[in-house]
Amino acid sequence: MPEFQTSPGMRDILPPESARWRRFVDVFAHVAQSGGYGQVMSPLLEDLGVFQRIGDATDVVSKEMYDFVDKGGRHIALRPELTASICRAFVQHSPQVPWKIWYTGSMFRYEKPQRGRYRQFDQVGIEVLGADDPNLDVEIIALGWEFYRALGLQQVKLVVNSLGEPDDRARYVQALKAHFEANLEALSAESRVTLEKNPLRVLDSKREQDAPLVASAPKIAEFYSEKAATHFAAVQAGLSVLGIPFTVEPKLVRGLDYYRHTTFEYQGGTLDSAQNALGGGGRYDGLVEALGGKPTPGVGFAMGLDRTLLACDDEGVFAAPSPSVDVFVVDTTGGAEALRITSELRAAGLSADRAYENRSMKSQMKVADRSGAAFAVIVGSNEVEAGTVVVRPLRAEPAGPDTASGQAVVPRSDLILHIRKATS
Ligand code: AMP
Repeated sequence: MPEFQTSPGMRDILPPESARWRRFVDVFAHVAQSGGYGQVMSPLLEDLGVFQRIGDATDVVSKEMYDFVDKGGRHIALRPELTASICRAFVQHSPQVPWKIWYTGSMFRYEKPQRGRYRQFDQVGIEVLGADDPNLDVEIIALGWEFYRALGLQQVKLVVNSLGEPDDRARYVQALKAHFEANLEALSAESRVTLEKNPLRVLDSKREQDAPLVASAPKIAEFYSEKAATHFAAVQAGLSVLGIPFTVEPKLVRGLDYYRHTTFEYQGGTLDSAQNALGGGGRYDGLVEALGGKPTPGVGFAMGLDRTLLACDDEGVFAAPSPSVDVFVVDTTGGAEALRITSELRAAGLSADRAYENRSMKSQMKVADRSGAAFAVIVGSNEVEAGTVVVRPLRAEPAGPDTASGQAVVPRSDLILHIRKATS
């Protein structure tokens, strides 16, 4: 075993998988930009306080943060998520509202690594700050839906809920607390601890022992004010107008105090329930204010690359692209010709690779075949003397005994033109 390896929960993403990651982000960028969203690139590090303002009711903040004191004595954290950074940026730059943005990047959480759960993982996401309109909730949910469609995923399920107005939610939390406290002996030890900290999170319990009490718990819908009920009805109506199927899941709560109104989750149809959340989000307020800004409503979501790609694997869609270039140059005259030709091809906007170390023709052709190139450009001393090159198609169907079929001798000066025509 080598002396140094990646730390637990951290990975190298190598080619061709890395090309799949890039395409993933490209597809997301395309979908987000189609809705008028601009990208925000914020630092990986923030003052610890930025994330502490999310509240310490979640493990993400209270237990899983990577934090340290830098050489200037500042208490810094690696971002565990991006909503807080985006709200910090909003306060810092005062952009025009509604501020419609998207992001991508690595997040860090000191979690127990397992399939679909890492300590460094990537997300893509969207946030809109400065507007309360339920049409925005629908817009971002629809963009997420569109994104999954663009990847080719067919089995994603959308679940939605509403947490109501802050007052509705506070009354609900009281009722929930009373319900669980009246039946404390039936609750698992773990959930009793959760109850102390955050009664809403008891609804997240996946323990069998808790299932009957969770099922008989009061439902948030019984506590909606008229405003909350109207907002939620508008979101559901909007989704129906767009033909996006969804189910209402009253247990879908977000533990943070800032969440209000809409919450939603995209679940992978093929993943087991502990790991099936591909992404999720909802409406929040108070976060901008907690970071020093004016009271500002926000709505957004984050999606994990890993779990979404696991879902893609399960559904057999969005595979890693096979490596390929337009041209592979085989030069048996020492390599200087290959240097010139690859450079000319690249300057002309074509992709080109080559063999090195002046290997034999046979060994270079092997590499050319493996490269996935559409054409080999072959240069030997005869060609150099005649001012020509040989262009051999590599991706053609196996062509019987005449394996060199389709091969052409092309004047050196016409090479670019020839390849351009052949690849168009
Ligand atoms: P959250 O920010 O916790 O709402 O997570 C949003 C999405 O990020 C989840 O649905 C996952 O797809 C992904 N995610 C969260 N934590 C991890 C992790 N430790 N490893 C990989 N993906 C994660």
